Amino acid sequence: MCPRMGFLDKVLGRSPERLSLDGGVLTIRDRALAESLQRPAKPTLGDASPEPCPRCGQPLRELVLSTFGKVGASGRAGNDGLWLEVPVETDGWACVDCATLRFPRKMTAAELLPIEEAGVAHLRAKRLAEAERCFARLVWDWPGYSSGHLNYATALRERLRQQPPQDEAARGRLAARVREELERAVASQPSKLDPRSARLAAYAQLSLAEFCIEELSLEPAAHALEACLNLPHLEETQRARARTLGEYLEKVRESVARR
Ligand SMILES: [Zn+2]
Repeated sequence: MCPRMGFLDKVLGRSPERLSLDGGVLTIRDRALAESLQRPAKPTLGDASPEPCPRCGQPLRELVLSTFGKVGASGRAGNDGLWLEVPVETDGWACVDCATLRFPRKMTAAELLPIEEAGVAHLRAKRLAEAERCFARLVWDWPGYSSGHLNYATALRERLRQQPPQDEAARGRLAARVREELERAVASQPSKLDPRSARLAAYAQLSLAEFCIEELSLEPAAHALEACLNLPHLEETQRARARTLGEYLEKVRESVARR
């Protein structure tokens, strides 16, 4: 690991079969390598003039590090399904010859907000793989950006509905990721809410509650609804939605109890 604060470094030595370079994207083809890349807990704020490759001394290239691969004719992400199980999409640097990877790179709003807009457009057009890709990049580059987590959760949830994994374990892992992104969206709300941020906070809590009810995770659903109803500046439509979900939750609770 690199001793410099804020960057995650990975030096693998030559392993061309595990990586492939296409334009500005370095595709990671190896599951163990993909799983070893930890998603950052905080965005990089420091200025980026990276040290050269510790192995060969050459400057590192700015690249997107990704497990996405190419989208096949089916519209699903390629790369042998690695993307679906281990999504990695982050802006960083690499020395491709030595397989040195470094991330995340500092990203500005001017760079990332268009990616979020593109993700929303993909989601509306039901291009779920491309939507997930945009939002994954957002949450890797800007962890704690609530709207990014919420959009990512929405895209993952759409996949869970429309293209659910065949086996139960994979379905469970996907559902856990939806839930994790919703929880991150809730956790990354600012402590002082203005009306605009309060609307987003309420939307995050309502989405979490709705998903938890679907997954029969009833106590966390009740908790999210209560938190929503306690938010300042709560809009009437959102209050009404919270109450409707609360009534539905009670019906689900009774039917679970009768089983
Ligand atoms: Zn190198």
